[in-house]
Amino acid sequence: MNSFDLHSHSTASDGTLTPTQLVARADEAGVDYLAVTDHDTTAGLDEARMEARSRDIEIISGCEISVTWSNTTIHIVGLNIREDAAELQQGLEKLRTYRQWRAEEIGRRLEKKGIPGAYEGAKERARGVLISRTHFAHFLAEHGYASDVRDVFRKYLVNKKPGYVAGQWAALDEVVGWIKNAGGQAVIAHPARYRLTRSKLLRLIGEFRELGGDALEVVSGSHSRDESFTMAKHARDNGLMASAGSDFHGPENPWIELGQLPALPQGCQPIWNSWTHLTH
Ligand code: AMP
Ligand code: MN
Ligand code: MN
Ligand code: MN
Repeated sequence: MNSFDLHSHSTASDGTLTPTQLVARADEAGVDYLAVTDHDTTAGLDEARMEARSRDIEIISGCEISVTWSNTTIHIVGLNIREDAAELQQGLEKLRTYRQWRAEEIGRRLEKKGIPGAYEGAKERARGVLISRTHFAHFLAEHGYASDVRDVFRKYLVNKKPGYVAGQWAALDEVVGWIKNAGGQAVIAHPARYRLTRSKLLRLIGEFRELGGDALEVVSGSHSRDESFTMAKHARDNGLMASAGSDFHGPENPWIELGQLPALPQGCQPIWNSWTHLTH
């Protein structure tokens, strides 16, 4: 049986392992197919594939794209995308431009609340490609503003807290279009994490499907077993395939590890059954 992990992050976005380290760790954990899905960038993929060449692991080219849908931030994972697709890259670049403005704005808001240097601290931790709230969280935790990263999010970086800036990301139809036109498959990432009401979740899934979306991430490092079963049912009821990914960000979150995922619930159509290029 092949092992698939179709959601992971590197230092190209808010992960703490370089693409090389990420691929090495996945290979050592027994993963056969790893999708590297950094937020709003494909910059880690070349290095990931380079490392995979000398190992028994294959990289699925991916990206986790930030969407604003019905006033909610939603993440859409693209799998098997052609990275040279111009429309996709232009779209991602626009998102990164917004991210850069948002990072500066988060810095200004925290400064007003008596926390200086947060933008600079986050930028330093981001090492180049893009700045995520995770980078702010690491800075604030290290400087003792909260006990750990989760606590920082709770106190500073979520709705109604001092460092929160409401996202203005891409529209769902645009993002599904970028992915499909780049030859990829579109997956709603960790659908249980948005805490949508059942009717709003069904509206999201319905619109996503109408737009040509392919799958729900039924199994996720951030889903409970019950949530996976619920999402499996939604996938089946709506004729969508099922994906599985850890959403690994680094070894400092020991509760989420690469490739340590439960099997998809019965009756799911695994997205990898639609892939004809598998070599293992
Ligand atoms: P951003 O896309 O910059 O708004 O950052 C979102 C990222 O922050 C997510 O992908 C997670 O990695 C991280 N994140 C969001 N909420 C939390 C939380 N409550 N605890 C820890 N990390 C979080
Ligand atoms: Mn993240
Ligand atoms: Mn996400
Ligand atoms: Mn993710």
